[in-house]
Amino acid sequence: MHRVLRPSFVLLALLSACGTCAAQGVGYSDTPQLPGQPWRVHDIDRPNPPVVDPGPASACEVPAPSDAVVLFDGTTLDAWQHGDGRDAEWTVLPDGAMQIKGSTGDIMTRQHFGSCQLHIEWASPEKVSGKSQGRGNSGVFFFGRYEIQILDSFDNQTYADGQAASLYGQYPPDANASRGPGAWQTYDIIFEAPEFADDGSLVSPAYATVIHNGILVHHRREFIGATAHRSVAKYTAHKPEGEIKLQDHGNPVRFRNIWVRPLEAEKTHDDHDDHGH
Ligand code: MG
Repeated sequence: MHRVLRPSFVLLALLSACGTCAAQGVGYSDTPQLPGQPWRVHDIDRPNPPVVDPGPASACEVPAPSDAVVLFDGTTLDAWQHGDGRDAEWTVLPDGAMQIKGSTGDIMTRQHFGSCQLHIEWASPEKVSGKSQGRGNSGVFFFGRYEIQILDSFDNQTYADGQAASLYGQYPPDANASRGPGAWQTYDIIFEAPEFADDGSLVSPAYATVIHNGILVHHRREFIGATAHRSVAKYTAHKPEGEIKLQDHGNPVRFRNIWVRPLEAEKTHDDHDDHGH
């Protein structure tokens, strides 16, 4: 009898261990395949990028250059509105940050931009609440549709293509350069706008270069299309300029020191023809 029981105990132990492993995964295994990549959208098996400690946040804000359009300097939300044209209802805090006021909705710039360089500083809530995509979620959307994810990704497991600085649902960053909850973090993003032909077909995709807390995490990464959840991103033709949108995902994420430099002259430059210079 003992010889029969022993293997059963081993089997039970193995089943128990496997159950624990499966419960730790976050993501999906029933989503469509990403074009050109061996992974599904939000793939549960996609490895997370290595953690790189960026060091502490600077005590000073990065000053806006003289040719920048200042989108938020700590005093007013005048540059922003909601999608229905309401003045931005997020909260301006006494320390010069603005904070997402839940249920008020996304805010977007009144002014429209094409290719640009964006500097934005953000901080997830100091008091950790929620997990995975429910923890410090927001996002920066160029043209209101191409998202660089904002998330508290400090010791917070989620699917790789949904963590902080990901091209959400498309590419994880090359490193997890996140600071801890409540700490100020920076994104410096060079966004190259897509171009469309008169018939609406795509001529040139969008690209993003992203520096997170001083660390390069995307080097001219191509967007597959407009950000989508659980499906493959697609392009739909739009104007050459559009709003920059900040997402209200229901978490009280803060922002400060947001400025943008339009880059119209750079867009049509073709690196592949640039020999001998
Ligand atoms: Mg988001």
